Amino acid sequence: MAGFPEDQYQRWRRARSVSAQLREQERPQPPPERLLQLIWLHQRLRRDDVHTTDGQPLVVLHPGFWNREAGPDFREAVIQIGEPPARVGDVEVDLWPGGWSQHQHQVNPAYRKVILHVVWESPGTASGALPTMAMREWIDAPLAQLEPWLGGLNAAELPPALRGACVDPLSRLAAGGFEELLRQAARVRLEQKAARFQARARHAGWEQALWEGLFGALGYKHNVWPLRRLAELLPRFRAGVDGRPLSARRWQVLLLGVAGLLPDPSARPFRGVDAFLIALWNEWWRERARFAEELIPRGLWRFHGIRPANHPARRLALAAHWLADPAWLDRLEGWLVEDIPDRRLPATLLERWQVAPHDYWSWHWTLRSGHLARPRPWLGQQRVTDLAMNVVLPWLWSRAGTGGDPALLGRAEHRYFAWPAAQDNAVLRLARQRLLAGRSLPRPRRAADQQGLLQIVRDFCDHADALCQSCPFPDLVNAAGLSGGQPGEVD
Ligand code: SF4
Repeated sequence: MAGFPEDQYQRWRRARSVSAQLREQERPQPPPERLLQLIWLHQRLRRDDVHTTDGQPLVVLHPGFWNREAGPDFREAVIQIGEPPARVGDVEVDLWPGGWSQHQHQVNPAYRKVILHVVWESPGTASGALPTMAMREWIDAPLAQLEPWLGGLNAAELPPALRGACVDPLSRLAAGGFEELLRQAARVRLEQKAARFQARARHAGWEQALWEGLFGALGYKHNVWPLRRLAELLPRFRAGVDGRPLSARRWQVLLLGVAGLLPDPSARPFRGVDAFLIALWNEWWRERARFAEELIPRGLWRFHGIRPANHPARRLALAAHWLADPAWLDRLEGWLVEDIPDRRLPATLLERWQVAPHDYWSWHWTLRSGHLARPRPWLGQQRVTDLAMNVVLPWLWSRAGTGGDPALLGRAEHRYFAWPAAQDNAVLRLARQRLLAGRSLPRPRRAADQQGLLQIVRDFCDHADALCQSCPFPDLVNAAGLSGGQPGEVD
């Protein structure tokens, strides 16, 4: 083209390379940790030459899955240090070797599976207890070149080389085959959850089984067990009131007090303690001795990495209001017999569960947080979907099945399969990348399809390593003879 020299683009590239080298030399600071994590994830290393700081050859068969929550940066990596065999474990990325002790990882049980410490650079070659790799020595291009390349990637995406061995077999399934596979997996999940409710109901009654399921789900993976334990104590809290309902405030005193989540207002480090907290504390103070044996040990709670909306104190306050409402269970059962359009299911359940605005909880996330600029609801639609798919619908389905009521059974099952999908969580995102190469689930998006995908992860991925070794799923999909031809038909 006139006016555009033939080697223009090459010159731009060379200019970029020179400026990159200059920037590299001028770089005053070590790179951000996130860049190191991206280099590790994409293995931008001279992979046939990498050694640990004590001189052992390091072969990375799989860098592991990036963990965006508390704990080591990468889970389930497969690496070989020195002689075979390769080992499966976690990888922690830090700027310096000292980060390990500085962050107290050596005493944190979440880090006990770490088999490699990846650092930017290491001052020496000393052999430590934990194998260490100093990345600076092994990157395959200057950092100034890697930085824009990695910055241009979607960091949330799994590199293509790390996708699961089932991606191709799944993508070859005939039209409708993949949808049916997800549906069947989702049904297995529904049956398993329902069976647990049925077993628990035999010993504790249906209502108690429901509360235990709800409390566990309100614990939102970090605090499932302490919340479940509190639900097991509900009959103990109710003892001595002769069937009279407890007020929402009374439930909060008992639940938060036994949970150990009521801060002592006199020990609070800041002024202006809310009168609501003082009132709860004063009431709990008189009761404490009575529940001394039931107190939940502080170490059982996990607060790191949870959103304020999911703080267990806030969830317990919500449960307290539900427990205090004598019509709550009737409303739930009434919801099942109402005719409701599928798209309105989450909103209508949320309406039945929403609690009136509260002077304290609408304006504070937790019992320790400050006053919010605007009021917050108790519950959002995302959490309602979790509670519906994991607790309420399996419970209603199980109860209807046990009671021999085919009409209610059919309604509960219909709602389970028709419920609109919620946003992907971290597990679902990884599953979509690993099994579907990031493609979407069938449309319209249904929560049951997400449940089906989670069930496949549980049944297959959780029993194989990151390399998919020994996973029979790809062969099973192939052998099912449902192939429909070219890859790419999943979406
Ligand atoms: S472990 Fe099995 S199911 Fe999971 S991604 Fe690999 S091949 Fe697929």
